Amino acid sequence: MKSIIVGAGIAGSTLALGMDKAGLDYLLLEQAPAFGEVGAGIQLSPNAVRILSWLGLGEDLQRVCAEPDFHKYSVWDTGETVLRVALKPQVQEIYGHPYYHAYRPDLIDAITRRLDRKRVKMKQKVKAVGQGLSGAWVICENGDKYEADVLIGADGIHSVVREQIFQPEPPRASGYVSWRGVVDAEDIADLDIPISAYIDMGPNLSFVYYYISAGRKFNWLATGPTDGKKLESWSQTASREEILGAFKGWYDRPARVIEKTKEIFVTGMCDRNPLESWVQGGITLMGDAAHAMLPYHASGAGQGIEDAWVLARCLQIGASDPKAALKRYEDLRIDRANRMVRHSREAEGWYHLADAEKVARRNARFRKKNVEFGDRITPEQHWLYSYDAEKAVLGADDEWRSLPAW
Ligand SMILES: Cc1cc2nc3c(=O)[nH]c(=O)nc-3n(C[C@H](O)[C@H](O)[C@H](O)COP(=O)(O)OP(=O)(O)OC[C@H]3O[C@@H](n4cnc5c(N)ncnc54)[C@H](O)[C@@H]3O)c2cc1C
Repeated sequence: MKSIIVGAGIAGSTLALGMDKAGLDYLLLEQAPAFGEVGAGIQLSPNAVRILSWLGLGEDLQRVCAEPDFHKYSVWDTGETVLRVALKPQVQEIYGHPYYHAYRPDLIDAITRRLDRKRVKMKQKVKAVGQGLSGAWVICENGDKYEADVLIGADGIHSVVREQIFQPEPPRASGYVSWRGVVDAEDIADLDIPISAYIDMGPNLSFVYYYISAGRKFNWLATGPTDGKKLESWSQTASREEILGAFKGWYDRPARVIEKTKEIFVTGMCDRNPLESWVQGGITLMGDAAHAMLPYHASGAGQGIEDAWVLARCLQIGASDPKAALKRYEDLRIDRANRMVRHSREAEGWYHLADAEKVARRNARFRKKNVEFGDRITPEQHWLYSYDAEKAVLGADDEWRSLPAW
């Protein structure tokens, strides 16, 4: 059995590594001339770190990541923290793997450095996909054609595979944009910010920030309503004045971090409506191509990493009947990933409340939760973090389906 993976982002590359480990035959096609990721941070919860560790990345991640002690939800004008959600050391103690903050280029480098390069073809932009009696095929812009038993679209939110095989519907713009930047940690040393994960919530605007690169860099992300002109692209730049203006009236930390940022980018926030099926014959989807979600639960890549393990293992176990193996993969994954798409949409609302009464109610709810859970793991964390992809493949971990939190 041979597979073609379209797209070498975090999801497709992790799948390729999983297939190497499973001894499966595959070809990874990527449109870019070299592996790479945008120069931004990414949060990795233990459900994903567990899989990356199984794939041999444990020591690399430990070396290049920062490990926060809490998620801290704070109020925009005073900076008061209304909810602290425990991460370190509880997550490692309970789930056996930590919660990490990584620099995306470090992460993609750690994954792709381990790939069997003979199975990778760069500068292959897929323009057409389909399937016939002899299997699935792709045609690239340069005219190259490839065939395989299984075709996996890991080609991101603008997926050609999704568009041509599943649903020709464009991504959904949420109406918000994210500005983002990375700062050298020494440039903000005077702010004396502890190694935590921060979410400051103001009227219509939020500011998320954390250390990456083993504490040497600092990543921030500000999200607010859009003027309608920003694209879903990671390479548009924005002026410092544009973003500083949005933080007028806030406590001073966001502005002081932004002032130290040399280059600021802006991305229109988009997701995808959940699909009812990810499988058509010998073709399937994974990662953002299957379930692009808004970033409020910092879980898009994590879900793609879960897909990767489950898909590689389903194909390994079910090699004699690849179409049935894809169906099993879909059964195991689609409900969980689609729930995250929906919960991420809901979160956009409570992150960005503007009405004073609603803000007061949310903050009161957070304060109550802070007292109720103290330094214990919350049900939402448990739902996300406890997922063991290998147990799921073996039919031994369905706990998340019945947990009430989401
Ligand atoms: C602001 C923001 C913050 C986020 N923060 C987090 C976070 O903290 N934690 C988290 O888990 N997730 C986070 N996410 C989500 C995460 O970034 C994505 O879910 C993840 O990067 C998707 O990976 P992917 O491999 O599925 O897709 P992509 O990263 O889009 O990769 C797709 C790959 O396919 C290639 N490709 C595309 N089309 C073709 C084609 N036709 N032919 C060949 N190759 C093709 C592309 O070049 C690319 O390499 C965030 C998202 C945003 C927008």
